[in-house]
Amino acid sequence: MIQDFNYHTHTIRCGHAVGTDEEYIQAAIQAGYRILGFSDHAPYKGMPLPKSRMAWEQLDEYIDSLTALKEKYKDQIEIHIGLETEYYPECHEQKLELLEKVEYLILGQHSVRPNGEGTFFRFNTKEQLMQYAEKICQGLETGLYTYLAHPDVYVFRQDSFDRTCKKVARMILEKAAETDTPVEINVHGVQRGRQSFPNGTMQYWYPHKEFWKIAAEYPLRCIYGIDAHDPRQLLDLQSVLDAKKELEDLGLTFIDEPFVFQHR
Ligand SMILES: [Zn+2]
Ligand SMILES: [Zn+2]
Repeated sequence: MIQDFNYHTHTIRCGHAVGTDEEYIQAAIQAGYRILGFSDHAPYKGMPLPKSRMAWEQLDEYIDSLTALKEKYKDQIEIHIGLETEYYPECHEQKLELLEKVEYLILGQHSVRPNGEGTFFRFNTKEQLMQYAEKICQGLETGLYTYLAHPDVYVFRQDSFDRTCKKVARMILEKAAETDTPVEINVHGVQRGRQSFPNGTMQYWYPHKEFWKIAAEYPLRCIYGIDAHDPRQLLDLQSVLDAKKELEDLGLTFIDEPFVFQHR
């Protein structure tokens, strides 16, 4: 098996994924996964963002649906129920509340503010990039997160891996190492394909090789995450192989044992 656990799976509730909960599970079984963790985009109280994350009112239904499926498929696959969420200091209490309900949180910082402002899709100033890195570092310090998703996603739509990108990489990686938080190599980035950069190279925005070269200097544990927004992404094992091939010569250390969560 190329990869037999994945903790980064979305559902239709986030507004930009397709398929039923059950279809994700069936795809994971078909692909040979032993463990499938759901980590849909977590809600924020009173701050709906229908194309980006579920509403707070959907949370219980999300958990109930997955709990029923976890039982239904328990002889075929181990299901875990988590959420992917950002770190915003003003919403810290909500994270504690979420952790009462689910087994794990992964830190996936998609913007600088909870209303979606300062998203990585449109980073164009040095200040935004630095604010973004600071939020991640503060989030890592809380110790609430099982791992850090797509730590290099900020390179998305950047023309080059310039001095600021390098500085941001070191801020994030140093904090991940200091807090012993595993970092994710995001297979969705591979599935988006290679892009042509102004310097003439063709490479993935993420996993961005320059970022992972720096990562290799730190005592970090890495993990692959599919970041599935479509059940078919779980069946695309070639993209996992491509991600591995892209980074194989860097000497990164990988998590080879699944996480153990308290039973809920
Ligand atoms: Zn998403
Ligand atoms: Zn995700």
